[in-house]
Amino acid sequence: MARAGGQQSPLEVLRTEAPAASRRARGPLLRLLLLARPMRSQLLFAVLAGAVATGSGVALLAVSGFLLARASQHPNIVAIFRRLERLAPAGLAAFRSGDLLARLISDVDATQDLFVRGLAPPLTAALVGTAATLAAAALLVPAGLVLCAGLLLAGLAVPLLAAATARRSALRSAEARGRLGAVLTDMLTGAADLRVFGATSTALAGGSQLDPELTRLARRSATAADLGAGLTSAAAGGALWAVLLLGVAATGAGVLTRVPLAVITLTALAAFEAVTSLPAAAIQIGQARSSAARVAAVLDTQDPVRDPAEPDPMPCGPLHISVHGACVRYEPAGPLALAGVDLDLPPGRRIAVVGPTGAGKSTLAAVLLRFCDLAAGSVTVNGRPLSSFEADAVRRRIGGCPQDPHIFDTTIRANLLLARPTATDEELANAADRARLRDWIESLPQGWETRVGSHGTHLSGGQRQRLAFARALLADPAVLILDEPTAHLDPESRRALMADLLAATAGRGILLITHELEGLDRLDEIVVLAHGRVAERGTHADLVTSGGVYQRMWEAGERGRS
Ligand code: ADP
Repeated sequence: MARAGGQQSPLEVLRTEAPAASRRARGPLLRLLLLARPMRSQLLFAVLAGAVATGSGVALLAVSGFLLARASQHPNIVAIFRRLERLAPAGLAAFRSGDLLARLISDVDATQDLFVRGLAPPLTAALVGTAATLAAAALLVPAGLVLCAGLLLAGLAVPLLAAATARRSALRSAEARGRLGAVLTDMLTGAADLRVFGATSTALAGGSQLDPELTRLARRSATAADLGAGLTSAAAGGALWAVLLLGVAATGAGVLTRVPLAVITLTALAAFEAVTSLPAAAIQIGQARSSAARVAAVLDTQDPVRDPAEPDPMPCGPLHISVHGACVRYEPAGPLALAGVDLDLPPGRRIAVVGPTGAGKSTLAAVLLRFCDLAAGSVTVNGRPLSSFEADAVRRRIGGCPQDPHIFDTTIRANLLLARPTATDEELANAADRARLRDWIESLPQGWETRVGSHGTHLSGGQRQRLAFARALLADPAVLILDEPTAHLDPESRRALMADLLAATAGRGILLITHELEGLDRLDEIVVLAHGRVAERGTHADLVTSGGVYQRMWEAGERGRS
């Protein structure tokens, strides 16, 4: 290391400082330490700098540990899932499921990287760069100015250029990842159908079209990052040379001695370390921004139903639901899916809703479950508007089976407990009994712990529907809404399930949406919907001879049965 002119080296001091006798009396290490006394402030500074450097590493690890642990306590992904849950089902129609998955996982991940990989490096570089510039300027002003210019070029201009180059590809690759997710999810869900129709290669070809696009976007992003890295190195090299030349010239002119020259040069060299990661950080910020926009699109989707600011408490006892002139549209200027429907459902009354596909039957069920609000008309529960209650509170008292109930890839027990996590074994057995599943479950080698497979693929169609029905019974709502509980079943299983279903729900208010007309003579009223309106209503006995839609449906069913 260079020394200030005229200073002796420790070894020279060692030779000349003390007489030979006293030199021999002291240990060599102690003598060295004593000899270092004149440089004690520099040594102290070196110790402090070393402690700050090592301490920073320790602090960084400690903070990372803290942040990771905190993040695991409040994962963003859970917050976003809660939002999705509130949007389901109507509010999610605008998103494809695989795209939602991409937003939930990779986009949330990208936004989580914002601080550590995006914001922390420029802030650190700003602090280090300022300190290095001030230190260099204190020793030689022109060198400080050149260092400052080099740092601004490498740490600001180049990252901005890299970010601008990568901006469009960041947005488009987030979208393309979403599209790929959507295609893959669709293909995985429909894998069996694709095989049946021999359409796997066509579907794969469709999906693989996205591959070159993603590769091109990834290449563009990598080019931007490499361009940034190259330009940063070039700027750093140029500035270092300039600092060195200025320093040498100043030393030659006697303005600067050799020691500060080395300090300036090494300070500049080290300062550029802080800016080398900035182009990548700028690209990361761009990616986090695109991903944040995609996550925000989900968060900002308007709730399909609005909870009241001060909700009424949901009544505890029997419920009397009245619907007057209910109108629903899915799009603000779209057609009416329900166009003025009236319905009276006092406690214990059992109503069937029948009608062709698209008549508005599921929409009526969605209205009663508070999944969608009315465009006009009213729904009241015990005389209070349905909209004065919280949607979740409504669904605790008015429940049932959706049209395609989801069977989770877990055990029979866990699938049932979903409806009531605190249910006892006896309550589970009772619900399974009423859905005529108990004997079958208990005959299985693993009984209640039998796993049902993805989407319940280890079960028959009838068993799946019965499991969903048992789940609805276990939740024990005051009013049960059953949407096509016998869909996808063969006629015999359909009739058997319908009979069991009607027996199990005797005395409870139900709204039964169905295509299966057999057994409906046991219901109090049948409402026939067509084009969102009530086409006919009455009992089975009234309607079967009325000469209307119901009679035609019944006769078509009769022909099928015979
Ligand atoms: P049904 O249950 O009788 O088959 P639906 O209630 O499902 O009929 O549908 C009634 C009408 O509303 C149909 O024209 C259907 O296309 C439309 N519809 C249903 N769900 C949506 C939705 N999420 N977005 C837009 N239109 C919808």
